[in-house]
Amino acid sequence: MRAHWINNEWTQGEATGTIPVENPATQEILDEVPDGTEADAHRAVEAAKAAFREWRKLSAVERAHMLHEVSRRAREHWDELVELLTLEQGKPVPENEEEMEWTADTFDYYAELGRHIRGRVVPSGEPETQLNMVLKEPYGVVAAIIPWNYPMLLMAWKVAAALAAGNTVVIKPSELTPLTTLLFVEKCMSHLPPGVVNVVTGYGQPVGEALVKHPDVPVIAFTGSLATGQRISTLAAPMIKRLHLELGGKDAFVVGPDIDVESTAKALAYSALLNAGQVCTSSERVYVAGNVAGQFVEALVEEVSRLRLGPGIEPTTDIGPMIGDAYRSKVERHVEDARQKGARILIGGKRPAHLERGYFYEPTVLLDVNHDMLIMSEETFGPAIPLMVYDDFDQAIEWVNSSPYGLGAVLRTNDMRLAKKFYEEVRAGTIWINDPLTDNYAGPFGGMKLSGNARELGAEGLESFLETKHVHWDFSADPKDWWYPY
Ligand code: NAD
Repeated sequence: MRAHWINNEWTQGEATGTIPVENPATQEILDEVPDGTEADAHRAVEAAKAAFREWRKLSAVERAHMLHEVSRRAREHWDELVELLTLEQGKPVPENEEEMEWTADTFDYYAELGRHIRGRVVPSGEPETQLNMVLKEPYGVVAAIIPWNYPMLLMAWKVAAALAAGNTVVIKPSELTPLTTLLFVEKCMSHLPPGVVNVVTGYGQPVGEALVKHPDVPVIAFTGSLATGQRISTLAAPMIKRLHLELGGKDAFVVGPDIDVESTAKALAYSALLNAGQVCTSSERVYVAGNVAGQFVEALVEEVSRLRLGPGIEPTTDIGPMIGDAYRSKVERHVEDARQKGARILIGGKRPAHLERGYFYEPTVLLDVNHDMLIMSEETFGPAIPLMVYDDFDQAIEWVNSSPYGLGAVLRTNDMRLAKKFYEEVRAGTIWINDPLTDNYAGPFGGMKLSGNARELGAEGLESFLETKHVHWDFSADPKDWWYPY
């Protein structure tokens, strides 16, 4: 049984109930965490608020040392973090190693970037006696509300940047994947001053909402579904809070008319099926140029047929389970809706017979789909690849932009004219040309349209946690000509 982490101490808080955490590959219970209450969230905010007074005053160098130390400890406790992440989240070990690598590096990245926070002096009306300064200051307590698909990485993108900027943090991990977060604070963050980082486990209601509504939490950094993002926006609006919302997507993958069929099939399998398709930037709509469609579909089905389903902890596994039954049921509903409306299922389309336990679903390729089907219009968040054929590249771009989401988009081509047209005309926060889903520490990540308003990573990811203040200072106390009387 685990506990909340508040003020560098373990506590059950006011919680009377517990939340069991399941291994999605076996449906066994791994551990339990407190079913946190509003009072627990409030206590964590108080701790973070008290810690902010000193944390904001530390020199950037002192903070940088402590953030590098988080990264160093993550590498020291690598194996147990990767193993627990695999058991509670489900994806294969190599993907969790990559997630931990990114997590540790994100702390190193923001440790360095935090050294370069700068205000500036701007010209004054009376340069002899006046100084005008623009300051960049931390906000105070940041609530970091995290989903289950990348529990470590999406925590790090928020927490490392918020701390480097001088804020303190309360983390609300997903109720489905709180265990690695608790292990991480225990092993990698206990050297931070008490209250700088706190973790409260529990459900969105009450714990998440208590953080969103708390008057001493000026910033909500949230990654999750559109519906929750909308709910948080409504709750926070009367208090004019700063909201960083990283929401859902329905990313398109466009297969250009000039591509190599084999390598593009591999690229698509990766970008649609990574983490069993449970990536916010999973390729969920595929538009294939008519001249290569026949060959491409054949190569894709061949590629998908080679992928091995199993528990993430097994070295032979390419694709792990989905996180839970509700998420798998949604994929089944989308596939069934497509089938009923005339789609052809070329491979998959069902649960694997050989894996009785666990939330597995076979990677699925669908042809003859259209935008009236759920699988082409709503976020599916599972291992399904629906394909539509286009004859005209302008038509493909129109289809890409037809979604209300705008998180990422992928194009495979070596035709520079098509690539330029694509990145200029597509409304999405990240455009990947040829190499899907590769992020960059210095490259801001986030969405347009209903995919949200935040940017994480890069200088923008730090700026999100800094507030701008203008100071006008006159060294002379003499009355001014423009004061009363006129
Ligand atoms: P979710 O919205 O159900 O939950 C996310 C977090 O919000 C959890 O910690 C949850 O407990 C909390 N929460 C739920 N209701 C809340 C409320 N009323 N107030 C405050 N907090 C609340 O999302 P999920 O199912 O965990 O994650 C999957 C979704 O996340 C998908 O839609 C996916 O596209 C999105 N996502 C987006 C990005 C991105 O960067 N844009 C990255 C990963 C995942």
